[in-house]
Amino acid sequence: MRVSKETVVGIEYTLKDDKGNVLDASTSHGPMEYLHGASNIIPGLEQGLEGLTAGDTKVVVVQPVDAYGEYSDKLIQRVPLDRFGANKVEIGMRFHAETNLGMRVLVIRHVDEQEAVLDGNHELAGKTLTFDVKVVSVRAAELTELAHGHPHQEGGCCGGGGGCGSGESEGGCCSSEGEASAGGCCSTEGASTGCCSAEEPAAQSKQGGCGNGGCGCSA
Ligand SMILES: [Zn+2]
Repeated sequence: MRVSKETVVGIEYTLKDDKGNVLDASTSHGPMEYLHGASNIIPGLEQGLEGLTAGDTKVVVVQPVDAYGEYSDKLIQRVPLDRFGANKVEIGMRFHAETNLGMRVLVIRHVDEQEAVLDGNHELAGKTLTFDVKVVSVRAAELTELAHGHPHQEGGCCGGGGGCGSGESEGGCCSSEGEASAGGCCSTEGASTGCCSAEEPAAQSKQGGCGNGGCGCSA
């Protein structure tokens, strides 16, 4: 079977930046499964895998526009410290916030006596990414997987036998707040290839997203 729309694809991969630094690798968390054609992974990688079969290997180079976008100065904002109330403000802190480009992860890049500088760019924005990929499996998606927009493993959604709580959540897996994350597993926003990423610690992805079952976060 070839990688095409409505197939569930398992891949092993190593992700490098244009300097050859390894940013992520499936060896640290096992092969990753995704639903092809459902935007579980970045568009450039999804296109690069189209038509392959199990056992194929490929080097897929993805430009920023087909990955996490160009770096944008518009996503940098200065916020007075009093807006944070009593919360501690430290460089490197991350949180979700609504911006004019939708919900994004913001990182504190700089703090001075009056202001914090927040950066809403994805950590991999502006980067050309190289994936060394091996397709390890290709199978037809189940109807429930198509309905949820992400793959299931061992009969369940989101890592558990029973799925996201008892009910099927509409948009996909449940976040830690109990809401379905928009893109299916673990929100497409923060993930480098679908689930765990450098941005969201694995433990957080596991708890908030799909755990072992949904996307291969096994950390
Ligand atoms: Zn599901």
